[in-house]
Amino acid sequence: MKRTIYLKLLLGYGIFIALSLLYIYNGYEKAAEDKHIASYALSLYNQANGISGYYSKYHYNISRPDDSYSFSGDIKTFMLPDDTTLWLVSSDGKILYSSRYRDTGKIPGDLSSYFDSGIYTTTTYNNIMEEEVLSVYSPIVNTYKTYGYVILSRRLEAVVSDFAPLSNFNYSIFLLMLIFSLSILIVFHIFIFRPIRNVKRAVNEYAKGNFDYKLPKIYYKDEIGDIGEKLNFMALEMKEKDDDQRKFITNISHDLRSPLTSIKGYVEAMLDGTIPPELHEKYLNILLFETERLNKLTESLLLLNTWDYKGMRLDITDFDLVSLTRNIVASFEGQCSRKKITLDVFFGSKAYIVNADKTKIQQVIYNLLDNGIKFSHNNSTINIKITDKNDKIFFSVKDSGIGIPKENLKKIWDRFYKTDSSRGKDKTGTGLGLSIVKEVISSHNENINVISTEGVGTEFIFTLQRSKKASLPVISS
Ligand code: ADP
Repeated sequence: MKRTIYLKLLLGYGIFIALSLLYIYNGYEKAAEDKHIASYALSLYNQANGISGYYSKYHYNISRPDDSYSFSGDIKTFMLPDDTTLWLVSSDGKILYSSRYRDTGKIPGDLSSYFDSGIYTTTTYNNIMEEEVLSVYSPIVNTYKTYGYVILSRRLEAVVSDFAPLSNFNYSIFLLMLIFSLSILIVFHIFIFRPIRNVKRAVNEYAKGNFDYKLPKIYYKDEIGDIGEKLNFMALEMKEKDDDQRKFITNISHDLRSPLTSIKGYVEAMLDGTIPPELHEKYLNILLFETERLNKLTESLLLLNTWDYKGMRLDITDFDLVSLTRNIVASFEGQCSRKKITLDVFFGSKAYIVNADKTKIQQVIYNLLDNGIKFSHNNSTINIKITDKNDKIFFSVKDSGIGIPKENLKKIWDRFYKTDSSRGKDKTGTGLGLSIVKEVISSHNENINVISTEGVGTEFIFTLQRSKKASLPVISS
C-alpha cells in the first residue's frame, strides 16, 4: 500500500492516542494514585498517632489484659471505617489486641523492617492479612519508654477504589482530548487532505496527457490553493502547446505533401511519356522551383527550431540601414519588373546607423519586401521609408496590394499561417516568413506593427535602436 500523507497522519494520530493513554495509565494516573495513597496514609497515620497518644496517656501498661480489654471498649470512640483494622502490638512484636479478634496472639514480624522507608507500608504481614493492606504504625511512648505500637491497616483495594472518581476525571480529560484532536483531524481532512487529493488527481490526469481535466476550485488562499492555481494555469498552457503542436504537424505535413505530390506526378509523367521529351525542360524547371520551395521551407523550419531550442544568438554591430536597404531593393529588380512594380524609397538626406544584427535585419527586410511584391497588384508602387525619432529608427514597407482581412491580422505571425485569399495567389509562400520577422525583431527587444485594409493595402513598420556612435556621412549610391 502507498504511504499517503493521510495514512501517515492517521498513524501519527493513532500513536498520539496510544501514547496519551499510556501516559494517563502509567504516568499520570499512577502518580496520582500514589499521591492519593500517601495522603490517605497520612490521615491514617494521624489517627494512629491519636490512638497511641490516647493509650500512652491512660493505658500505658498494655500488657495487662484488663487494660487491653478496656482499650477495646475505648476504641469505638475513635470511629474508624469498617474495613480498618487496629492492632495493638507489644514491644516484642506480638499482637495483643486486634479489632479483628482472630489476629490476637499472632506475630506480624519485625515492624522496623516494614516501615524502614516511611510512615506507611503496603503488606500482608506474613499472610496474617488475607490481602494487601495499607498500614501505618505509631509507637506508644511514655517517659521515653516504648510500650508497644498502634498499627492501623486498611485494604489497599478499598483505598485505591476511593481514587476511582478522580480516575474518571482523568478519562473525561482524555475524552475531551480525543474529541479535540479528532476535530483537528477533520479540519485537516477538509482543508489539507481533500485539496491535496484533488491536486494529485489533476496531476495524474495531466501526466496522462488529459489537459482538458479541470482541477476543482480550491477556495483557500494558502499554499495548496496557490499550487492549484498554478497547476490550472500550467494545464491551460500545456493544452495550448498541445493544440499548437497538432496544428503545426498538420500544417507541415500539408506543406511538404503538396510539392512532393506534384514532383512525383511530373516525374512519373515524364517517365511514362505522358510529357513528351521536348517539354521536359519546362517541367524540369517546375520541379526545380518545387524543390527550391521545399528547401526554403526546411531551412526556415530549422532556423525557427534552433531559435526555439537554443535561443537566438545576435551578432550586434553598427551598420548603415540605408545602404543595406538599397542593396536588398536592387536584388528585387527582376521580380519587380516582371510585375511592373515600382519600389519607391524615401530615406531623406540622413544616414541611419543602427545597432543590430545585420544579417538578421537583412532577412527581415527581404521577407517584408518579398511579401509586399507577392501580394501587390501589377503596375503598383511599394513605398519604403526610413524615419527617426529620438534614439529610434522606424522602417516602413507599404504596399497597395490585396491587404489582410481584419480578423486574420493577429494570426499572420503564427507559423504556417496564410490567409485564404493568399493561398490561391501565392504558390511560393511557406507561411513562415513573418514568424521569422517577428522572432528577429522581438529578440532585438524592438516592435513590429502591421496596418492593413483588405483590398487597399498593407504597411509593416518596425523599430531599431539608433547607434550611440556619431552619424556617418551619407553614402550616395
Ligand atoms: P508567406 O511565406 O506565405 O508569405 P508569411 O509568414 O510571410 O508567409 O505571411 C503570412 C501570411 O500573411 C501570408 O500568407 C499572407 O496571407 C499574409 N501577408 C503577409 N504579408 C502580406 C502583405 N504585404 N499583403 C497581404 N497579405 C500579406
